[in-house]
Amino acid sequence: MDYRTVLTTCTYCGCGCNFYLEVLDGEPIGTIPCKTSPVNEGKLCIKGWNVHEFIRNEKRLTTPLIRKNGVLEEVGWDEALDFTVSKLKEITDRNGGDAIGFLTSAKVTNEENYLLQKFARAAVGTNSVDHCARL
Ligand code: SF4
Repeated sequence: MDYRTVLTTCTYCGCGCNFYLEVLDGEPIGTIPCKTSPVNEGKLCIKGWNVHEFIRNEKRLTTPLIRKNGVLEEVGWDEALDFTVSKLKEITDRNGGDAIGFLTSAKVTNEENYLLQKFARAAVGTNSVDHCARL
């Protein structure tokens, strides 16, 4: 039996509470609030207490999808990234960076949100960045 705890950040909302994910034989089985986190000080809301339950949900998308001839098809990450880069270049070449907007999520970390807005502004050249919390 292999039991471990992994310190991580809750992905359910933008508060960024920390907890220890309990992992038994490679399977997430529970969460323990992190008492030393300055964000949540040992507390979690009901979503944080149960965050381990969705990790293995069969409805999660784990493979990129590209619509081909009107139908979503599973593709590899290299193809998905190449497709995305080519479309971003095509649009910015034709209409400039402001023709593109980025929507990010409360379900990723603040650091990931920071990286996306940095990519939008510095690499693509648009200030059109918004967040699902405002949708
Ligand atoms: S535990 Fe609750 S409040 Fe904290 S980040 Fe997760 S969803 Fe948000």
